[in-house]
Amino acid sequence: IPDEFTRAASVLKEIQAHGFEAYFVGGSVRDALLKQSIHDVDIATSAYPEEIKQIFHRTIDVGIDHGTVLVLDGEEQYEITTFRTESTYQDFRRPDTVTFVRSLKEDLKRRDFTINALAMNVDGEIIDLFDGIADLERQVIRAVGNPKERFHEDALRMMRGLRFASQLNFTIEENTLLAIEEFHPLLGKISVERIAVEFIKLLLGKNRQAALLPFIETNCYQYCPGLKYFGEALFNFIELPNKQIELENQAWALLIKTMRLKENEIRSFLKSWKQSNQMIQEVQQLIYGLNRRLLEDWQVMDLFDLGIDAALSVEKLLFYYEQKSKLEEVKERYLSLPIHDRKQLAVTGNDLLNYFDKKPGKWLGDMIEKLETAVVNSQIKNDKELLLAYAKEKIDEE
Ligand code: ATP
Ligand code: MG
Repeated sequence: IPDEFTRAASVLKEIQAHGFEAYFVGGSVRDALLKQSIHDVDIATSAYPEEIKQIFHRTIDVGIDHGTVLVLDGEEQYEITTFRTESTYQDFRRPDTVTFVRSLKEDLKRRDFTINALAMNVDGEIIDLFDGIADLERQVIRAVGNPKERFHEDALRMMRGLRFASQLNFTIEENTLLAIEEFHPLLGKISVERIAVEFIKLLLGKNRQAALLPFIETNCYQYCPGLKYFGEALFNFIELPNKQIELENQAWALLIKTMRLKENEIRSFLKSWKQSNQMIQEVQQLIYGLNRRLLEDWQVMDLFDLGIDAALSVEKLLFYYEQKSKLEEVKERYLSLPIHDRKQLAVTGNDLLNYFDKKPGKWLGDMIEKLETAVVNSQIKNDKELLLAYAKEKIDEE
């Protein structure tokens, strides 16, 4: 039994001491059986939220309407969710009301896939009501119960199935896949934010090819933002070397580059996926850098503009275009730049204003840029006197 469970065992025992059932459930049990690292240990219990709050002193209501209470135990925190069924599904989305029940079986029945419907008791015994262990061994994603009904209840599960295929490198069981094919238009009912979470996990998974193929073939992609007319491009995207992608911004950059979006289309594409301005900027930078670097080796000015992190990130992306990355060389070249930031320039805007006795205006920004470029390219030393003289020369030329 992994450490994470041993540490949480006292919480389970405490609940049991009050006469309730409690089990480890969900992703942590699955990942432990797969001998993969575990992130959060989730606990399911027959106790109602109010009862949990009476047992533990330090709790936070994180989703009490859905039956979830966060219990703080020393350094650790656990989501403890009351056994529940989700009977009334509206609009193919997550249910707005849940019914608390006292039976583990009912709770496991409403879970999405057999590999996610495993529970473990405090002694490490697995409760496997839907053949989840066999599916872990067979490496398949299979809906619990009738897949059509399950996707009809909550269409997001289709995207979840695809992302688990990528993350775990599993295949999707045939009837489950057929149901996705049949019900894929229901994805249109799901919020973009929730689809995006799964799509990004899919892109960053161990075997995204294994998930992207069914994602395309079942037509799920047509109900994802901005992808409707990009079936071809997605096939090309699959053709990229299937090495796991490290970062979310890299995943977007590789995808968008394969889609051949124009510079002014990148923003609206990522906005349609509800991505932050920060993410959009990072992706634009990577794509810019990647296009530059695929054309020729870095110019010093590119390294200066991008910064070392983005430049190295671009270097790593070269792998997907069957080109060698030169991480060490780029680091050295970057370190040897005369300055790394405009703030390090030996003259400021104020220096220039005083020196020329001119009103501020466009000329000032242009001049600072010229000086910066000259310094970065080692055409002139980063020295105040020299820079002012150089500026004077430029102004006299005009
Ligand atoms: P991860 O490792 O990404 O956290 P996970 O399996 O723990 O994977 P969560 O989204 O954290 O996934 O959900 C926890 C558990 O809740 C799942 O294992 C599954 O049993 C159940 N679950 C989550 N979302 C759904 C859903 N849409 N429909 C049915 N069951 C779900
Ligand atoms: Mg989880």
